[in-house]
Amino acid sequence: PEGAIPQMPSSDDLRLAKDKLKDRRRAKAVIFSLARNSDLYDLLSSMKQMEDRFNHWAQYDYIFLNDDDFTDEFKEKTSALTSANCKYGKIDPDHWHQPDWIDEEKATAARKEMTRKKIIYGHSVPYRNMCRFNSGFFFRHPLLDDYDYYWRMEPSVKYFCDLDYDPFLLMQDQGKQYGFTLSLYEYIETIPTLWNATKEFIQLHPEYVAEGNSMGFLSDDGGETYNKCHFWSNFEIGDLNLWRSDAYMKYFEFLDQKGGFYYERWGDAPVHSIAASLFLPKEKIHWFDDIGYRHDPFQHCPQNDAHKRGKCWCNPADTFDFESYSCTQKWIDIFPKP
Ligand code: GDP
Ligand code: MN
Repeated sequence: PEGAIPQMPSSDDLRLAKDKLKDRRRAKAVIFSLARNSDLYDLLSSMKQMEDRFNHWAQYDYIFLNDDDFTDEFKEKTSALTSANCKYGKIDPDHWHQPDWIDEEKATAARKEMTRKKIIYGHSVPYRNMCRFNSGFFFRHPLLDDYDYYWRMEPSVKYFCDLDYDPFLLMQDQGKQYGFTLSLYEYIETIPTLWNATKEFIQLHPEYVAEGNSMGFLSDDGGETYNKCHFWSNFEIGDLNLWRSDAYMKYFEFLDQKGGFYYERWGDAPVHSIAASLFLPKEKIHWFDDIGYRHDPFQHCPQNDAHKRGKCWCNPADTFDFESYSCTQKWIDIFPKP
């Protein structure tokens, strides 16, 4: 045989390289996924891309949470995709199930009516549990206690571009607390009374409303009505301390008592978006317009230099940002033009 076949770096080489990476400056951050065992293969698809685009060099931990026990297969297959730590947690039933004080008759009637109107997930109790959990509880799970920042990852998403920087350090260094890629209008049938509840809350607690907030993103008439704009929360890079704050904990508690997670179908996306937009000055929210991302049926594809820098594989013409159903132009418009 002529000469040896070129080999992959040895595991020793890789370990040394990894040790070096571990010395770099890092945030206390984690990649977080809520999932069912049945989501395994769709989640592996997301996770493989997360590794390839970013985490193979960044080596942040993963946390997987479930309302059920994860199977051995789930744990083995996910941890096999990464050399970073993977942690698996079960959700406290009180953080997941419909509380006893919800009037089940009223909740059943609401589900029936939403099913009749063909509203997506209108029939589903587990979907409502999930939305309430993502709104008010994920950040209280003990496994997340060790972290300040999280990146939410869902099954079957796509990450189109290489990340050559650490978005968690960007958040930390620039004092950002909420990051998004896509924004759009919510189906009003899922949240008919959410805005009234929010207005009631801020009348009770005007002290929580930040100066220089993003009300202009949420409302076209100074706060009277909600324009339904929200950040799409299947992608979030956020500061857990935003959700742990008094303002947010009280806001969530207030919303929860209204029962709208079950009597309507309040989503964590509008709840998070309204809170971040009102309780933070607008500079603390960051549009990651250089992260190419798809969650069906919408995608954000970086343009021009960002597309090139990230070696993105999405078509730049296929980006949702400036379509009529996107709110991102509204987001841009609340900042004064340079
Ligand atoms: P959609 O994006 O709004 O269509 O909702 P998904 O089905 O993607 O659910 C959102 C997230 O919650 C995903 O990460 C799911 O894996 C997770 N999820 C949804 N329902 C459940 C559930 O009943 N149990 C658990 N453990 N996770 C769930
Ligand atoms: Mn999803």
